[in-house]
Amino acid sequence: MKPAPLVLDHVQITRPGRPALPGAVVMANGQITWIGRGEAPASALPPRAVRIDCEGGALMPGFVDAHCHPLALGAALTAADCRPAAARSIPEIQRQLALWAAASPNARHVRGFGYDELLLHERRHPNRHDLDVAVRDRPVVLTHGSGHALVLNTAGLRAAGITESADEPARGFIDREAETGAPSGLLLEMGSHVSRRLGRPTDGEVRRYASAASEALTLLGVTSVVDAGPSNDVSRFELWAELRKDQTFQPRLTVMQAPGSQIPEAEIFRLAAWVDAGPAKIVLIRGENGGLIPTPAELDEMVASALAAGPGVAVHAVEAESILMVCRVFEEARSRLDPRLLLTPAHRRIEHAAEATPEVCAAIKRCGATVVSQPGFIYGRGDRYLAAVDAGGWPVDHLYPLRTLLDQGIPVMFGSDAPYGPVSPLEAIYGAVTRTSASGRPVGRSQAIGTTEALVRSVNNSSPLRAGSPCDLVVLSEDPQSVQPERLRDITVRLTIIAGEIVWGQ
Ligand SMILES: [Zn+2]
Repeated sequence: MKPAPLVLDHVQITRPGRPALPGAVVMANGQITWIGRGEAPASALPPRAVRIDCEGGALMPGFVDAHCHPLALGAALTAADCRPAAARSIPEIQRQLALWAAASPNARHVRGFGYDELLLHERRHPNRHDLDVAVRDRPVVLTHGSGHALVLNTAGLRAAGITESADEPARGFIDREAETGAPSGLLLEMGSHVSRRLGRPTDGEVRRYASAASEALTLLGVTSVVDAGPSNDVSRFELWAELRKDQTFQPRLTVMQAPGSQIPEAEIFRLAAWVDAGPAKIVLIRGENGGLIPTPAELDEMVASALAAGPGVAVHAVEAESILMVCRVFEEARSRLDPRLLLTPAHRRIEHAAEATPEVCAAIKRCGATVVSQPGFIYGRGDRYLAAVDAGGWPVDHLYPLRTLLDQGIPVMFGSDAPYGPVSPLEAIYGAVTRTSASGRPVGRSQAIGTTEALVRSVNNSSPLRAGSPCDLVVLSEDPQSVQPERLRDITVRLTIIAGEIVWGQ
């Protein structure tokens, strides 16, 4: 069903780097049909338009989340809340898990999300014995806030077949008890291994996760999302199309593709109204023996074939050494491949580029890549980074170094990496502009950027506020450019509109 034409009266039309204009906007058939100062003239009003008085709210293009994990986000939102704000010690985690288990007697396993060992009172990961105290009769899967570690209880280890004699999967690590050699419960980089063994989520669960993620994103003003999953295949692509079609998931969606199993072009065309195919996603991580996986030669090959299959490639690289390796491979691709395959810098993405000194940034500049950064981490995980610096962690002045990236003229887009970072684009902007952690501590202030600089990297710049543009819009309580940086997080989202339809708000 087509949404009714809409007129938003008394909006402040935001403009990058300039004061907002008091005006109105008219939309019909998913497009802006009139926008301007003052009131819309009678001739611009379509019949049967719904009029909304926005009382001076700030009209902006909707937020784009260029790197998100929507199904994991939905799973996290529906799991026991074990994030530092909700559980500061192992007994508090035990309480959260026990409460969740009691409220979900039919769940196959008990799920918890978000703990951070550095921010727990005990400053260690929980182990299977800790989780057994909370729940003994069903598997418990407790996921670290970064997504890179899991803790299972004894029933969970048994169900996942992780026994004393079990071997590590290729990219994973099983932590063991020093005295007995038995698995301690802590597993690194084994999320997909464990979910395969414990049974993938059912259709009903997937639907619940998608709907929880959609609600969280739209109420924070996000109108477009990129699913940065590294293993999306054609069946996941079709599932997303279905979830978009029946409005279980409302933001527009681009799905990154598993390298080597690119989605057939016929399917991409058939489902184009609902979902877009994104770049191939390659994850570059440190293996057990300290080397990077894939190797430079393998990465070279993967990047070349991803660019040949199109559209583009996105490589997850966090540490300086991995970023430099991606830069070398991208430079090589530039010198060797047909320039037509390279498309634009936005099609050669480095995801995260977290640990980047000015020299690393210079290499990024040379290779012509786009960085997809997560300033939300500065706010959401800044306290963890500061705690890690004392233990030899990366210095925060070169962590997610936005100022250096922008000064060197490197294209930057923002993504939340939710659920591993905060979902809210305004919290990300706050992180970029104030470089302040959730507890209020400075996190590398020399890397702060301006509000306008942060804002233009958080919205869809290809749909500016003008007649003919698609109606993916938000109305905020205030123009972020007009408030003191400390108050950015207090701005609220009053309306979220996708394709001319109000998906959040009145
Ligand atoms: Zn990610």
